[in-house]
This record gives sequence, structure tokens and C-alpha cells, in this order.
Amino acid sequence: MENAVNASTAGSGGQIVVAGAGYAGLHVTLRLTAKLRDHPEVELILVDRNDYHQAITELPRVASGTRAADAVRIPLQEVLATRVRFVQTEINGFDLAGRRLLTAAGPIDWRRLVLALGSRPNDFAIPGLAQRTLSLYSADDAERVWDAVSKALTAAAAAADPGQQRRLATVVVGGGGATGVELAGELAEILPQVASAHGLAADRPAVQLVEAGPTILAGSSPQLIDKAARILSDLGVQVRTNATIAATEEGFRLTDGQLVEGGVFVWAGGLKAPGLVADSELPTGHNGRVKVDRYLRVLDHPEIYVAGDLASVTDPRTGHALPPLAQVALEEGETVARNLDAELEDKPLEAFTFRDKGFVVSVGTRRGVADIAGITTGGRLAHGLKDAIEWEYRQSVKHLRGWDPV
Ligand SMILES: Cc1cc2nc3c(=O)[nH]c(=O)nc-3n(C[C@H](O)[C@H](O)[C@H](O)COP(=O)(O)OP(=O)(O)OC[C@H]3O[C@@H](n4cnc5c(N)ncnc54)[C@H](O)[C@@H]3O)c2cc1C
Repeated sequence: MENAVNASTAGSGGQIVVAGAGYAGLHVTLRLTAKLRDHPEVELILVDRNDYHQAITELPRVASGTRAADAVRIPLQEVLATRVRFVQTEINGFDLAGRRLLTAAGPIDWRRLVLALGSRPNDFAIPGLAQRTLSLYSADDAERVWDAVSKALTAAAAAADPGQQRRLATVVVGGGGATGVELAGELAEILPQVASAHGLAADRPAVQLVEAGPTILAGSSPQLIDKAARILSDLGVQVRTNATIAATEEGFRLTDGQLVEGGVFVWAGGLKAPGLVADSELPTGHNGRVKVDRYLRVLDHPEIYVAGDLASVTDPRTGHALPPLAQVALEEGETVARNLDAELEDKPLEAFTFRDKGFVVSVGTRRGVADIAGITTGGRLAHGLKDAIEWEYRQSVKHLRGWDPV
């Protein structure tokens, strides 16, 4: 298999290799396809372990059974122009000096590399957490969560003791950021109905949200936090703030000694960069994210761009790194595609500037909260906004399909 991938490549223009077909990587690829019309000598290669793109922002719905997993897997074949060479393989490392991506299918040479490998859950070295909790970062993860919830409800229905039923039918979500809030809200809304279908009293299931900090949705406006907390309370979600998990045993053991019991435990408490980046010689910062210059090129490696969760980009407004969000990944992808094109056209590179479009979180199946242009809304309108953003994203992926030579 060695050399299987690079044997047929290397035109005079060389290869632009995009590693990762998530929000950032797919966007770079789609945008660049059209720009390469005048550069047939350049080969554009996209690499991912999956032959589909995942609409990760919709995972809380899959994890609570309100959306099929296949509905969030978008086959790459349907969105990529034939101009793009797609390689489905696992990326195992980097040969920076040799300019090669090391993969299970053999090394892939690059002239320019775009790293867009996303994140993985961060367990903050809490004992037992990685082993005893489910995560939510892929369609497969989301299916596992829903499967575990269904099994827990079946086990609860078979239990004789109401206390035991309640414990088994309780879903505990660790981490009160947007992912935790969306998952908790969605489950709380749907579980009473699902419980009845399992022959369980509708009031038996419960959802608990455990957050180490003083508030859910940290960093958001107090108005947005208040509105989200009210909806969660209305849905019956028990929110525990200032509750730091010390270990995971039969439940979440908090630092004050309390044990939070349940039948299913999901960890949505933080993200870090993939292991292969940590093991590389790439310069990394907070949470293992790769340090980049203002053009999104790796420090001291101007031949490598980074976009999405993996890029450590400081927001000049806050002095902190931009959060791992799809909207940031898309904007960074746009800049990277423009800069790759600028290099081909011998034009100046463009510095990345984040243009914040606002923050929208769904809370349950009908309501949500949103902060847009300084205005906070909560309720059905915000949920409709979230639906509209996801719909618009899917349309944009289809419409950007790009260009194929005739
Ligand atoms: C449950 C959940 C809900 C979210 N909701 C929102 C939201 O509502 N709004 C919002 O703005 N953001 C949301 N986010 C954040 C958003 O999904 C991420 O910021 C975004 O996916 C980052 O894009 P990316 O391209 O960097 O990474 P990803 O989209 O994760 O893509 C990374 C790609 O790299 C591939 N890959 C990784 N490692 C390898 C390897 N070793 N070999 C081969 N392929 C590999 C993966 O298969 C994947 O296709 C949510 C996140 C989660 C987990």
C-alpha cells in the first residue's frame, strides 16, 4: 500500500491537499474547486476517514431520536465535483520536512496542505470519564447515545422499584455549553413520550445537566442565559451549576462528594485537538490547537493552512481564542480558499477577520434562544432561526458543488 496514493499524482502545479471534510475542509474544497478553473495543473485532493460530511450541529436531534443518523451524513460523492480527488482513509501523522501526509493508504505529497481535522472530546483527565461516558461528536456517537437511552428506558420499564426505574431512566449530561444544553433540552422534551411507548410512566424519565462553572452557556449574555435556563426549567431539566466532576464511578462523583446517579451519562464538557496533532511537531497552544499567523498559516510553516476547530485564532475583541463553532470554521475556510487562490494568482494574502453572525441555541424541540446584533430572543422564533441556519447550510453545500472541466 505504501505509495499507493501519491503514485499517480504530482502535476507541474503540484497538489493542494485538504485534510478533513468537515465544515472547514469541505468549504475550502468547494470554494477552491471553482477558483481552480484556470489552473488545470493543480490537483485538489480531499482526505477523510468517512465518505460523508457530517452536519454536526444537528447531532443533538439524532441523539434524542428526533432525526435519523443518515439524515446528517451527507455523501461526499453528491457534493464534490469530479475535479476533486477524494481519498477515504485514516490520517495517521505528518512528515513536515518531506511535505507528506501519512495515511493508512500511504503517504500523500502536498505542495500546500490545509489541516481541518476538527476536535475530539476533552476528558480533562477526570478518572473514569472517558471509559464510562458517551460523547457526541459524530453521527455514530449520536446513534450510540440514542441506543443507550432506549436500552435504559427498556431496563427501567422492567425494574419493579420506582426508585430504580427513576435512576435507570435518568440521563445525565456533563457540560452546560451549547451542546449540553441542546442535548438536555431535546431529551427532556422527547423522553416522556418515548417512556410511554416503553410502558413506563411519562414522569419517570429525568434529565440532569451538570456544569462546573457558575452558569450554563458561559460567555453568553445574561439575558440569553436567563432565557435558556427558564426553558430548561420549564422542560423539567435539573441544572446543577458549580458542580465539578471529580471522578466517574457508578455516576458522576462531584468534588463535594455527592454522587449524581443515572442510567446514561453523556460528556459534552469540552474539546481538544486530535491526538495526531498533539504528537506532531506542529506548534500548538490552548487545548492542543495549532498556532497560526493572521493568514491562517501555521507559524513557521507557511505551506500549511489550518481552519476550523483545529486553528487557534485569537479574537481581538476578547483576547481569547475563537470558540470551536461551525460558523467560525466556515469563515476560516473561506479565507483559506481565497488565500490559496491568491497564491496561485500571485496576489497578496488576506488576513482573517471573524464577522460574528450571532449565537443561536435550540432548547428542546420547539424553543430556543438567540443573540443576534445585540438583540436577545427566546422561544419559537429562535428555534425557527436554528432550523433556517441548518437548512441554509445544506443548500449552500449543494450549490457550491463547483465546476468540472468539460
Ligand atoms: C453536538 C454539537 C453541536 C454543535 N452545534 C453547533 C451549532 O449549533 N453552531 C455552531 O456554530 N457550531 C456547533 N458545533 C460546533 C461545530 O460542529 C464545530 O465547530 C465544527 O464541526 C468544526 O468544523 P471543523 O471542520 O473544524 O471540524 P469537523 O466538522 O469536526 O470536521 C473534521 C473532519 O476531519 C475528519 N477527520 C478527523 N480526524 C481524521 C483522521 N485522523 N483521519 C481522517 N479524517 C479525519 C473527520 O471525519 C471530519 O470529517 C457543535 C458541535 C457539536 C459537537
